[in-house]
Amino acid sequence: PTGRKPLMAGNWKMNINHLEAIKLVQQLAFGLKEADFDAVDVAVLPPFTDLRSVQTLVDADKLSIAYGSQDVSAHASGAYTGEISGAMLAKLGCSYATVGHSERRQYHHEDDALVNAKARAALSHEITPIVCVGEGLEVRKAGRHVAHTLAQVDGALEKIPADQVRTLVIAYEPVWAIGTGEVATPQDAQEVCAAIRGRLAELHDAEVADAVRILYGGSVKGANIAGIMAQSDVDGALVGGASLDPGEFIKICRYRD
Ligand code: PEP
Repeated sequence: PTGRKPLMAGNWKMNINHLEAIKLVQQLAFGLKEADFDAVDVAVLPPFTDLRSVQTLVDADKLSIAYGSQDVSAHASGAYTGEISGAMLAKLGCSYATVGHSERRQYHHEDDALVNAKARAALSHEITPIVCVGEGLEVRKAGRHVAHTLAQVDGALEKIPADQVRTLVIAYEPVWAIGTGEVATPQDAQEVCAAIRGRLAELHDAEVADAVRILYGGSVKGANIAGIMAQSDVDGALVGGASLDPGEFIKICRYRD
């Protein structure tokens, strides 16, 4: 047994407008019970334009659902048209900011140095970065998935001190499993999540490594979550498609049942 409380985070991607967001969060709030929140932390990661609506609902009904963004600017403020700062997200009550999602790396050419800057920007506003790492299919086929993913971890965590590293969430998301319906086996997930924890122990120490929550992401559903959560180094899931369906996301949060 570890002291790590599992986290189930729903990445809505570019889906759900701010009115639909209210409905989805209400459905989650209605379906999830106190016992669920005792067992797992639950978070949603809506588009930026939904965050104010989600904040209003969470505050008004004192919901135990946390929320965060799908990205954050590396910059503090100024002439960065289209970007959203950590200070703005903190003001909206965001607990989390996703950084380095594979879709950002792929479509917006984000590299490890930028992911590192974004993680540090979030941390400077006491927002927990959810640092996404993971290999593509070619790298997996070549058997280099562990080395590739650990290099991303090294890059993303550069210059972040141990007392902040211990608060991080790292999401291992093999790109070939994202949105494809092809889930990694529980053993695949455990192999890389354990390697990430080992690297955290090397970079810092075992106590820091034990504190970090490492999530698996990639085609997680109600039907496959239990096997993944049975792995000792997997501390939750980053859920894309299935997080848009409240019944399915609640099933994932209740993986113990
Ligand atoms: C994701 O976008 O982080 C993700 C894991 O997506 P999906 O669950 O749809 O594979």
